[in-house]
This record gives sequence, structure tokens and C-alpha cells, in this order.
Amino acid sequence: MTPAVRRDVLAAYAAADAAVRAAGPRCDASGRCCRFTEYGHTLFLSHFEAELLLESAPPYEKPVTRDGCPFQVDTLCTARDARPIGCRVYFCDPTYQETGNQITEAAVAALKAAADAHGTGWRYAPLHVFLNEAERPGVAAADTLDPVPPAGPRHPLPVVSGTGGLRDRGTEGH
Ligand code: SF4
Repeated sequence: MTPAVRRDVLAAYAAADAAVRAAGPRCDASGRCCRFTEYGHTLFLSHFEAELLLESAPPYEKPVTRDGCPFQVDTLCTARDARPIGCRVYFCDPTYQETGNQITEAAVAALKAAADAHGTGWRYAPLHVFLNEAERPGVAAADTLDPVPPAGPRHPLPVVSGTGGLRDRGTEGH
């Protein structure tokens, strides 16, 4: 990923984070957002998000199934700083669902715009697809130019379903 692309992707993350903060959804710290099959949704992400996640996420075992995220330990995310848009935006709070969908749509549109502007092409697929493709699961890239900030304390998962990153199983494409 070039520095210019990385800047645009991180800007999309920052905008999504700010919009979520402004909306202030409630997090029950249930961790169910990351147990996909159990709660009937699928985490979709772009190739940009997969690349950033794989740069700093901990090692994991293959094959990864569609059932859940290997980075969830107990109810906590061990890849929080590099988590994709769907993880950033998803919350269980029932009063937030429409807002969450709008935030996700805006974030995905920003990522697509970055793909168009930089001519990178575009892939959007479930998490397990990208994780199973990766040659060096969880190993940090040596050429990180603008690294994700160091991991802070592990955090209860924010996360939910919708039209973008985290989708109800009924709408998944894979
Ligand atoms: S919040 Fe973390 S553990 Fe949950 S799906 Fe996203 S990357 Fe995986």
C-alpha cells in the first residue's frame, strides 16, 4: 500500500470513528459482534482493510472459518487498533442501527473513492477469505510507513450488522 493510499484509508477510519463517537452508541461488551455465525452476520471488508489488519494483528491458525474472528480472545479484540470499518462501526445498541448503517456506507464510499483515485482495484469479501489467502498470517509488514498506533489495553468490542462492513447473513455474498 502506498503512503498516499494509506493516508486515505486511515482518514476513512478516523472519520468513521469520529462519527461513531458523535453518535455515542451503547456497547454491552458482549463480544457477540465477533461471533459471526452464532449471531447471524458476516464481517465484510475491503482489501485495504485486510492489508492494514494483517500488518499488526497477532498470528492466527488457518483455516479460518466464517464462524468468528480469530482475533477475539474471550470477549476482547486483540487487533483493536487495526480493526476494519465493520468492527469500528458495529454496536448492538438498537437505537443506533440506522446511524451505524449510514456511517458504514460513508466509510465504504470513501474507501472506494480511494481505490478509484489511486487505481488500486477493489475487492470486498468476508474476513475469513482474506485471512485464508494471507501468506504470512499476522506478521507485521516490514515496510510499514505510517504504522497503526501501538496497541493500548485490550478493549471490549464495539461492533453490528447492516449494509456495509458487518452484514446479516441473509445479505452476504460468499
Ligand atoms: S473487532 Fe477485533 S476480534 Fe472482533 S471481528 Fe473485528 S478484528 Fe476481529
